[in-house]
Amino acid sequence: MIAALMPTYNRADLAFERGEGARLWTEDGRRFLDFGSGIATSSVGHAHPHLVKTIAEQAAKVMHVSNLYRVPQAERLAARHVAASFADSVFFCNSGAEANEGMIKAMRKTMAETGRGERFRFITFEGAFHGRTLATLAATGNAKYLEGFGPKVDGFDQVPFGNMNAVRDAVGPATAGVIIEPVQGEGGVRPAELRFLRELRAMCDEYGLLLGLDEVQIGMGRSGKLWAHQWAGIEPDVMSAAKGIGGGFPLGAILAKEHVAKHLKPGTHGTTYGGNPLACAAGNAVLDIILAPGFLDQVDRVARHLWRALLALKERNSDLVEDIRGAGLLLGIKLRDGVLNTDFQAAAVAEGLLTVAAGQNVLRLAPPLIITEAEADEAVDLLGRALGRLRAAAATPQAAAQ
Ligand SMILES: *Cc1c(COP(=O)(O)O)cnc(C)c1O
Repeated sequence: MIAALMPTYNRADLAFERGEGARLWTEDGRRFLDFGSGIATSSVGHAHPHLVKTIAEQAAKVMHVSNLYRVPQAERLAARHVAASFADSVFFCNSGAEANEGMIKAMRKTMAETGRGERFRFITFEGAFHGRTLATLAATGNAKYLEGFGPKVDGFDQVPFGNMNAVRDAVGPATAGVIIEPVQGEGGVRPAELRFLRELRAMCDEYGLLLGLDEVQIGMGRSGKLWAHQWAGIEPDVMSAAKGIGGGFPLGAILAKEHVAKHLKPGTHGTTYGGNPLACAAGNAVLDIILAPGFLDQVDRVARHLWRALLALKERNSDLVEDIRGAGLLLGIKLRDGVLNTDFQAAAVAEGLLTVAAGQNVLRLAPPLIITEAEADEAVDLLGRALGRLRAAAATPQAAAQ
């Protein structure tokens, strides 16, 4: 008989009862170092006192009122995001896919409202991940995810990641813009070259196209700057965010320049839960932490420390590890052919370390942004032991995860 909880995921047999900072404890008392953060989401760590207190206090007052009324917590959160970014205006929703759907709609509407309604197509990239709704699946373009769900939503033209000639070739009379993750997360922790991002910006300006960034995973401080595109010194026209912005509380957002945002007039877009008092209180608490003086500098410092330690790990284990890649605290360990990232992940669990697999046979590290250098060293030590297990298992199959 089918499980009561729909069997949509391949879940590890671990059930966590509580967490603190970068640590998680299972119901049966096993302790883990969490370098997955619930897929780059628990950005300020588990049970952060300020986030916990804010959520508890807001929940006791009012959680939800709908967007039929003003929501002061949302007004404040939007104003703070505007002050801290390229954006002039912010729309709140509940997830990354919902933010991307809204971003796609905002880009199309901008074209329609400026006399270019025939421009509804987007250039997207191989290895992308934009979500699991029908339109964001089409933008993702992964045949495996699309199969069995009927005709793919029209309007997405996929080209190789990082190839400017392919992008230029794909621009046609129906092109509205480009949608890209500055660092591909699910697709294998692949950063776009900063020059590529600048060239995309320049091309969009040249042809009057819109640049939409998906910063759902790398955004909100994970790169060491608040938004990853800041490293390239460019600004998008519109951007999606989610995962880390609520610190574990479901919250998504579309951040946009005025020339895009002004076209989402009343009645054009909406969501019932989106931007409710509780979610926005959580979002404000996360901003308090991430925008505190010195916080992002420390993320950058610990990220560089982790990067160097991983390079040394690679040198010591070059028989198994092919490459270290990524940016900030979204780092990937690419394994050699014949060594599976899922086996490495299981071996890390056996050592007490939680990670996330990614595409291209990469093991992804996305720790909470509050980790210390000592915790980074500990994780690398556990990864070294996990690699030892893989090596032993290659000699004695079935020993790896025991
Ligand atoms: C996770 C992710 C999404 C989808 O977010 P959901 O909250 O799962 O809908 C979209 N884009 C990127 C880059 C992501 O990493």
